[in-house]
Amino acid sequence: MPANFADKSCVITDMIKETPDVTLFRFEPEDKTRMDFEPGMFVMVAYVDPATKEKTARAFSIASAPSQDFLEFYISMVHGKLTSRLENAKVGERYYITGPYGQFKFSPDADRKVLFLAGGTGLAPFMSMLREIKLLSSGNDVSMLYSVKYPNEVIRKSELAELGSQINLKTHITVTRPQPGDGWTGQTGHIDSEMIKRYAPDFAERMTYICGPLNFAQAMKDALMALGVPSERIKSDVWG
Ligand SMILES: Cc1cc2nc3c(=O)[nH]c(=O)nc-3n(C[C@H](O)[C@H](O)[C@H](O)COP(=O)(O)OP(=O)(O)OC[C@H]3O[C@@H](n4cnc5c(N)ncnc54)[C@H](O)[C@@H]3O)c2cc1C
Repeated sequence: MPANFADKSCVITDMIKETPDVTLFRFEPEDKTRMDFEPGMFVMVAYVDPATKEKTARAFSIASAPSQDFLEFYISMVHGKLTSRLENAKVGERYYITGPYGQFKFSPDADRKVLFLAGGTGLAPFMSMLREIKLLSSGNDVSMLYSVKYPNEVIRKSELAELGSQINLKTHITVTRPQPGDGWTGQTGHIDSEMIKRYAPDFAERMTYICGPLNFAQAMKDALMALGVPSERIKSDVWG
């Protein structure tokens, strides 16, 4: 079990606009100690208003691997309370991080063959898992279906391509709202039973992990049930 940390003072070290709506944030602890977690877990990120001392905390899935010196997140700018603050954040700004939380955990030793089903920013925990597989050279066999609305919404596109040549990973991206002239020539449409069979014909041998918004997670479970995958072979993490 990872050791807990509470209200750990962290500063923003990087902000990268990954897509029109999603910004990548990296935070590093001010005391330079590493925060313990397992790939797949999430933390609470809190901002404390210096004037009023009001604290606003929200959950975010960790995209970095446990051995990296920073915590990385992919945050959809939905113009809510914390994301509005993050939209105007600056490198060096201080936040407080508490965790880790969650049962959506990946152990490279236990699940040798896996199927990852990611929807939008639901890619985050899978990036943590993929980076861990690479850093440990654990050799897991990974098939990933990653669903985005538009081609420009793919997060970490070049890193995913690079990982595909470094570890045993096959990523299949599907665009659910292709537009005329968007240049997308790849797979389109929502992930369903047929798509799972096409890209992961050996799905029955794989432990399946699902992460994304509520309607995405439900649709994935329905597709897997239709294929006869028992619920104990499915792990899911949902937000929204
Ligand atoms: C386990 C877990 C993991 C998560 N991981 C991630 C992650 O990796 N990445 C990620 O992006 N999110 C993640 N989330 C969601 C995240 O915790 C927040 O809910 C999200 O960032 C919105 O927070 P907020 O304070 O900006 O919005 P809130 O203020 O809490 O508002 C919630 C919703 O209401 C809408 N809203 C708020 N104010 C207005 C307004 N004035 N007018 C219209 N609509 C409004 C917002 O658009 C938002 O959709 C996760 C959630 C959970 C539970």
